[in-house]
This record gives sequence, C-alpha cells and structure tokens, in this order.
Amino acid sequence: MDRYSRQTVLKEVGEEGQKRIGQGHVVIIGLGGLGSVTADALVRCGVGNVTLIDRDFVEMSNLQRQTVYSEDDIGKPKAEVMFKRLKKVNSDVKLKTLVTDINRNNIEDTINEADIVMDCTDNMKARYIINDACVKHGIPWIYTAILGTYGMTMNVTPGEGPCLRCLLPKKPKAGSLETCATAGVLFSIPRVMANIAATEAVKILLKAEIRREMLTVDLWKNEYELTFVSRNSDCPCCGKHDFTYLDEEEDLVVELCGRNSVQVSPGEEIILDLGAIADRYPRSRLMGDSMLKIPLEEHELNLFKDGRLIVKGTDDINKAKALYSEYVGR
Ligand SMILES: [Zn+2]
Repeated sequence: MDRYSRQTVLKEVGEEGQKRIGQGHVVIIGLGGLGSVTADALVRCGVGNVTLIDRDFVEMSNLQRQTVYSEDDIGKPKAEVMFKRLKKVNSDVKLKTLVTDINRNNIEDTINEADIVMDCTDNMKARYIINDACVKHGIPWIYTAILGTYGMTMNVTPGEGPCLRCLLPKKPKAGSLETCATAGVLFSIPRVMANIAATEAVKILLKAEIRREMLTVDLWKNEYELTFVSRNSDCPCCGKHDFTYLDEEEDLVVELCGRNSVQVSPGEEIILDLGAIADRYPRSRLMGDSMLKIPLEEHELNLFKDGRLIVKGTDDINKAKALYSEYVGR
C-alpha cells in the first residue's frame, strides 16, 4: 500500500476509500487530450479496472497538448500506446483496450460492467449515444468538452440529476459547431478539464458528494462559472426513456472510393455552410460553391455542401470517421 500512502492519509480517501477505488471500473471513451490525461490520472490513483477506447492514431498535431504521447508514437493506435505506457505506471490495474469506433451497436456491451463512463470524445454524436446508453443502464457518466481556451464538464447521474438531453434535447446539426481542428485548443485546457472530471469520477466511486452544476472554465480569461441545469420531466431520454440515439439509422455511411480514399456521408440530410467552415480553417480553399479543399499533413479533405467528405490518402475507415468528427463535427 506504499504506492497510495499520500492518498490514504487524506481524510477524503482513507484505507477503506482506497479499497473502493481499487474495486472501481471506469470506461474511458476517447484518448485524445482529455482521455489520455484522464486515463493517466485514474490509473495512477489506483482505479482497479480501466477500459481504454479510441479509434484513432497518434499524429504530430496531437503532441502540443496530449502529454502522454511522444514522437516515437506517431502512427500507432492511441489505445495501444496508452496500454503499454500505463502498464508501466501501475501494473496492478487491469487494463482493457479497444481500438474501435463507439457507436449505437457496440456501446451497450462496452459499458455493461462500468461504474462510470468518461466522455473524452470530440463529437456530439458520440455524447448522445453515451447519454442514451448510460441513462438506459443507470450508469453515471461525465460529459467533458474543450474548444479554444475553454472547457465544460457536467456529471450525469441517472435517476438523480439532469442528463445531456435535459440540457440540449436534440443533437446539434453536423457542421453547425466549431471543432478543435478549426477553432484550435489551448495546450493547457484539456489537462485541467480532464483532472477535474477524473476527480469527480473518484468521488463517485467513493460515494462522496459530487458537483451538481455544469462547470465552465476559460483559462485565458480566468473565468470559472457554475451553471445549474435542472432536470426536465419531459426529457425524451431520462424522462420518457426514449433512447432515440441507440435506435435510429443516422450513422455515418463510410465507403472506400478508388485507390487510397474513403468517402464519409452524414446519413441525414444536411447543408453545410462551406463559407463559414472555410473562414474557420485558413488553409482551406473553396472550389466553387459546392466544395471545400482542406490540405492536411498526410491527407487531403474534400468537403461537399451536402455533408459528404472524401478523405484522400487513406484506406482506413476509422481514420476517415475521426477526420469527419474533427473537421465537420457531428
Ligand atoms: Zn434528461
């Protein structure tokens, strides 16, 4: 128990609390700026079972803020890099890794045995799926999002407090929100938000009092704001138990098209404001009214007004989906 001596001496944890942390199972969805820090924190503090999920690979543009990855890791699956690293940090923790895209078909099996689910994703679609699945199965989850210089986080405890759809009943349309790829991310904000969320997760395992409000932090402006979100008895999810996002056929349609390119279609009717996206991404080039070219280091993105994205320079379907979330948002 020497490993946890600084923690068991805390009156908030103690020997009994440490045992409880050791019996906990946390599922972390997404291992980018938020997820990598969350995983590192929870493994170090002794959460007994941690499931690490990410569909993507480490890229050069991640290293500015995703502190656990290094140049040697570029091109490797994030979940596998994390597994190797965290095994060395704390070999007592049972780690499970999944290199996969979380969707309505696999979410329920994935979170089945979790005590808490950490949303460390970069897209609203995944969050609505997580919300429906967690409310359906009565599993607490923590919503955390970052953009630019700010972040927000909210604890969702089904049956007690509000859920994501009490706050936002419907998922915002694809292409309507800024994303980290277009708005940027301050190097420090993911670490701060991830550690706040990880602390709330440990408090949930300890059955301690948790924050009941949504917290918004802007590190540049030094603003910290608590917003009370009330539970809506008419909420389609936690009120009426209508788990739309686990049922509906709104998934992205992904197909290989030609050599070394993948097309991702939104699976719903949308019209993108390409001009607005072009303004957010200075390296992009409008090709007439209906197409926007975005050159990246290893890929070229061709984004169409009807929401389709053709990713050139890959045959990897998960990579293409990840780029869709990153650049179009969904
Ligand atoms: Zn609700």
